[in-house]
Amino acid sequence: MLHASAPSASNSSISEVIEMKSGFLKVSCRDCGNEVVIFKRATSTIACRVCGATLVQPAGGNAKLVGCTVVEALQ
Ligand SMILES: [Zn+2]
Repeated sequence: MLHASAPSASNSSISEVIEMKSGFLKVSCRDCGNEVVIFKRATSTIACRVCGATLVQPAGGNAKLVGCTVVEALQ
């Protein structure tokens, strides 16, 4: 009786986890100063909850900051 050789296991998903560090930014609205935590690679437009100004627009990779300034990068 011969054992069939086991198929090689795929471990390619491990590298994706390592790249996920520090994906968030704390930003401040330029119009009213409200601070909001956003995902650096946001895929939809984010508006200020206080004044309604557009803060972030999706840009294919890292989101584009249009109405806010970065306060700090979160780990
Ligand atoms: Zn605002």
